[in-house]
Amino acid sequence: MVSKAKTALIMVDVQNDFCLGGSLAVPDGDAIVPLANQLQPHFSLVIATQDWHPSDHMSFAINQPGHAVGDVIMVDNVEQVLWPAHCIQQTKGAEFHPLLETSRVDKIVYKGSDRMIDSYSAFFDNEHLRSTGLADYLQEHGVEEIYIMGLATDYCVKYSCLDAAKLKLKTHVIIDACRGIDLKPGDMDKAIAEMRAVGVEIVEMKDVLIH
Ligand SMILES: [Zn+2]
Repeated sequence: MVSKAKTALIMVDVQNDFCLGGSLAVPDGDAIVPLANQLQPHFSLVIATQDWHPSDHMSFAINQPGHAVGDVIMVDNVEQVLWPAHCIQQTKGAEFHPLLETSRVDKIVYKGSDRMIDSYSAFFDNEHLRSTGLADYLQEHGVEEIYIMGLATDYCVKYSCLDAAKLKLKTHVIIDACRGIDLKPGDMDKAIAEMRAVGVEIVEMKDVLIH
């Protein structure tokens, strides 16, 4: 067990539904799986997140009569993008990609399990009402610096980075180990700019692997 780790790798949502053949496949999402495996030995603490929805989750277009995938609706005064049903608890789609190395994973963080609210960030739901426990876990393990990679750049990776920066964690995003959705063209570039604006450092695989 790692107890004195200072730097952690956070692998965001490397799950079947976000990869090739999944219900919400991120373009080229599978490409990051070998990169995740390559990164893991460089960190003393490895954390993986899983989007983990009940089948009646409010973010699924099928659960919002009259709406279609891609619509943006207001729920409790918060904008909500409607997605295809994805990452339903205990289903194949919610499992990690079969080639993702999981023997080094120290902690799995589940998010989005409350049907009434979405949770892009690894730290909090989208209204910041409830913590996933990740912040406490990092603090308990003395982690002040994190590296984030995974899916998707312009949603769960971005919001995880923004929350991490708010929590005063020294945050890096390994940008070539992420893939985005670009629902609206330019979303990915905007996400990178937003992350940079709050002090997140944009790095690449080669910057991490030389250490
Ligand atoms: Zn989701």
